[in-house]
Amino acid sequence: MQPRDLSDHAVYAAGRGSEEVARELGLDPAELVTLSSNENPHGPSPAAAAAIRDGAATVHSYPKSAHTDLTERIAERWAVESEQVWLANGGDGALDYLSRALLDPGDSVLVSRPGFAYYGMSARYHHGRVNTYELAQSNGFAQTPETVLESYDGERIVYLTSPHNPTGTTASLDTIEEIAEETDDETLTVVDEAYGEFADVPSALALVEGQDGWDARDDVAVLRTFSKVYGLAGVRLGYALVPDEWAEAYARVNTPFAASALACRAGLAALDDHEHVEETVESVRWAREFMSDELDVETYPSAGNFVLVEVGDATAVAEAAKRRGVIVRDCSSFGLSNCIRISCGTETETRRAVATINEVLA
Ligand code: PMP
Repeated sequence: MQPRDLSDHAVYAAGRGSEEVARELGLDPAELVTLSSNENPHGPSPAAAAAIRDGAATVHSYPKSAHTDLTERIAERWAVESEQVWLANGGDGALDYLSRALLDPGDSVLVSRPGFAYYGMSARYHHGRVNTYELAQSNGFAQTPETVLESYDGERIVYLTSPHNPTGTTASLDTIEEIAEETDDETLTVVDEAYGEFADVPSALALVEGQDGWDARDDVAVLRTFSKVYGLAGVRLGYALVPDEWAEAYARVNTPFAASALACRAGLAALDDHEHVEETVESVRWAREFMSDELDVETYPSAGNFVLVEVGDATAVAEAAKRRGVIVRDCSSFGLSNCIRISCGTETETRRAVATINEVLA
C-alpha cells in the first residue's frame, strides 16, 4: 500500500528555517538577512502579539466566538455579508476550500507561469489538473486578457495574482472583468491579493460586490492573507471573499474551526492597528525604490513587498549571496532561471542585501 504520488509538489514548503541555514554557514542566526519569503520584517502589530499572549489562558475552548468575531470584523471591513468570508488556515487554506468547492476529479485550473506554486498543488491534492498561461519576460510579465484567454480551455478556476508573485505586476479591474466575462459561466476567476495592501490598485472586490460603478459578478472571488502586511505568517490566517451566491458552500467545505483561537485573536487586533499597516507599507515603498535605484542590474517594477531582479545565473547568485549571509529567492523554482526575488527588509537588511548582490555581481 502506497500513498498517492504527489512528489513533484514538495518544493513549496522545502525552504529551511534561518537557524538551520545559519548553522550550515557557521553564522549566528542574528547575522543572517533572510529576504526570501516576502515576510514583514517589522514583525506583527504589538497589539496582535499581546492578543496572542492574552488568549493563551482560554485555549482549552474551541474557537467558536473568536472565529465569528473575526469573520464579522472582516465582513465589516469589506462591506460584505459575514457568510461571504471564507476564513482559513492561511491564504493556502482558503485556496484548498475553493478547490474543494469547485473541482470534481479531472477538472482543471488555469495558472500563470511563472507563478505561485500552491494554486496547482491545491488543485492536484483535490484530484484536479493544471493548465498554464505564460507571462512573457519580454513584455515585463504583463497580465493581459489575451495572455490568459489564449490558454483558457474551460478550466473551473482561473487564477490571477495581483500583485503577482514573483513578478510584481498587477491585473487591472478591466482585465479581470474581461477574463471573467469571456470565460464560461462555470468558471470562477480568483484574484489573489495576498500582497494587495502594497499596491496602488483597487481590490477586485469591487467586481464581486458591484462597487464603484462596476457591475456585480457571481464569478469572481478575492483572496487575502494576514501573512504579509500584518506580519502574521506564523499564525496561518487568510480568507477568500466570495460572491454571496456562494456563501452557504463554506459549511460544506471548511474544516471545523478553520482558524485557531489565537490566530483569530491576533487577526482582530491586527485589523485595528492601522498605524502598523501604514508604517509597513511606507517601509516597503522605500525598500522597493532603494532596490531599483541602487542595484547595479535591472529590476522589474513591483507592486508587492519584493522586487524581481535579473541577474544571469540565479542559482549561482543566490548561493553566493547565501555564503555572505543574505538569503534571497532563486526564481529557478518559478521557471525563471535568470532572476532572483528579494523581499523588502528593514532599512539595514535592504541596504545589506543590495550591497551583497552588487558585490556578487561585480
Ligand atoms: N498567494 C500568494 C501570491 C503568495 O505569495 C502566498 C504566500 N507566499 C500566498 C498566497 C499564501 O500565503 P499564506 O498561506 O501564508 O496566507
